[in-house]
Amino acid sequence: MDESLAKNEYPAAKIAKALASGEAPMAAKFCTPEVWAKYKDKQSTGPAKWTMARAINSGVMHPDSFVGCHAGDRESYDEFKDFFYPVIEAYHKGFSMEKGSDLKGTASERMDPSKIGVDLSASAQSKIVSTRIRIARNLAMFPLNPGGTQKSREDIASMMQKVYDGLPGMGYPELAGDFFLHTSMTDEQRQALIDGRQLFRGKDRMQAASGYHEHWPHGRGVFHNPDKTFVNWVNEGDHIRIISMQNGGDVTAVFKRLAAGAKAIEDGVRKETGVDGEVFMMHPKFGAVTCCPSNIGTGMRGSVHILVPKLIKAIGFEAIDKMARERNCQARGSNGEHSAVVDRIDVSNWRRIGYPEYELVADMIKFANFLAALEDATPP
Ligand code: ADP
Ligand code: MG
Repeated sequence: MDESLAKNEYPAAKIAKALASGEAPMAAKFCTPEVWAKYKDKQSTGPAKWTMARAINSGVMHPDSFVGCHAGDRESYDEFKDFFYPVIEAYHKGFSMEKGSDLKGTASERMDPSKIGVDLSASAQSKIVSTRIRIARNLAMFPLNPGGTQKSREDIASMMQKVYDGLPGMGYPELAGDFFLHTSMTDEQRQALIDGRQLFRGKDRMQAASGYHEHWPHGRGVFHNPDKTFVNWVNEGDHIRIISMQNGGDVTAVFKRLAAGAKAIEDGVRKETGVDGEVFMMHPKFGAVTCCPSNIGTGMRGSVHILVPKLIKAIGFEAIDKMARERNCQARGSNGEHSAVVDRIDVSNWRRIGYPEYELVADMIKFANFLAALEDATPP
């Protein structure tokens, strides 16, 4: 932990330096001295007993992070609201915590490919290596991982094992598969899953500072069907990342599978826990609760890996990301967030809140089409 925060002191010099750079993390921008003074001795009433110091540690230790703050339990968002609400509104531009978001139907119902309304262009299709759409979900009966323990993580993993075992019997044979734990998989298995982009490695410095990696590797695992097109991450950061992915640019197929998968997992958790109401943590104003404020709402990030080598060479990653942000999208390296960029870019929706899932997929498709056209217009 950061030295000052470990003593529960306001990291004034570091925050001032980050602010002066002009690119301070949201944690630094919104944890003003007033906000700090108001909350510094407060603990959330949820299971994590979350504090301001822990909430902003990642951004203080890593001034190059964009968000840099995390919630430890569902209660954190409301109980530190003078901090988290402005962060949420700044990240999710146009969203108002007062108005909230009122999406009709369930997430799975909104994942309707016929409503996307825009197709990938032929040029974009030809450049797309793979497509992946995921939603982040947390289980209502456990603390968020930054505020969890080894036991809470292990309990989640054993519960999810039962959910996965139950999938074939619940009428989801095409989604069924096996669950592999980081604690028992072989190095070869691990590397093959990382190379196939199905697995997380748990070595991100920003995630480490958020508390995601505490008690690593206990309770961490990955589930996948034999084709590796339906994948779940367990306890990477959020409790569950429900992922649909495949090679090529068939967004419709990926989206459809995600809809089925989201429903299957929710039904399975409900059956396992006997919980009648919400099995996933939901907030009345914004929807799905996640550790990082960037993922709240739909918790959905839909991405394609698109080959644009000429463009990367001509204008560079930063310029591409800037264009993405202007179009409600985001660019990343193809080995995940904070990874290096070579010949392809991960492009995905940036907004996650207040818009139905199909519209967020449309954002991503439009930007992929735009990038493909730019690549075509770039001289070799
Ligand atoms: P998330 O938002 O799901 O946390 P990350 O940027 O951390 O995403 O990436 C997670 C993993 O998913 C990485 O291994 C990354 O390469 C892989 N990935 C993301 N998008 C795609 C895609 N369209 N095709 C293939 N793999 C992908
Ligand atoms: Mg990630």
